[in-house]
Amino acid sequence: MKVSTNPDKFLWLGNRVALDFVNTEVHPEGRIEELLQTPDDLLHWLTEAGLVKGKIAQIATELGDEELERALKGARDYRKQIRGGLAATGFRKSIPDTLVVRTNHLLAVPTRVGRLILDQRGGRKLASEWEFTTGEDLLRPIAAATAELLVDRDARRIRRCRNPDCILYFYDVSKSNTRAWCSLDICGNKSRAADFRKRHSRKS
Ligand SMILES: [Zn+2]
Repeated sequence: MKVSTNPDKFLWLGNRVALDFVNTEVHPEGRIEELLQTPDDLLHWLTEAGLVKGKIAQIATELGDEELERALKGARDYRKQIRGGLAATGFRKSIPDTLVVRTNHLLAVPTRVGRLILDQRGGRKLASEWEFTTGEDLLRPIAAATAELLVDRDARRIRRCRNPDCILYFYDVSKSNTRAWCSLDICGNKSRAADFRKRHSRKS
């Protein structure tokens, strides 16, 4: 399988892995754009998110094309369920049963392995990594991140961008808890510019 590189393709503005995952669907110029188009994209996203530590090409070869396609389809389905949960309630009230069931299904199989690493200078480290033997295993770290978000006590900090045309989510980590935009570059400035134009055209 060909492994491509897509630098700067993904958005990392959500402050929570599960929200960055939902943000692999973007909405520029009024149409939804899929950033997870191929299994390659999914592997690169998992790596950039810090969830996959091994070599992508090796994982791809070990899993095989069929499992990778299954993982991609599963990832998109799961993302839709997470987005559904976010859209309906912002995770504040009830969480859809289907999302809970799917998350628990993915969390029910332990695929995390520990490894004690000693270096020559006497350093010691306990590493914990995900293992991928099936396509579905690729979704388990995403499920763990989603579960973490679901139990977050401050769900009001989970917010959708104020631009009504934007579908990006973020977790507001600002002290003032007043973040409104996915990013000033993407929506903040555009919106300010639109406000300015509106005010200006009313005056003229
Ligand atoms: Zn936005």
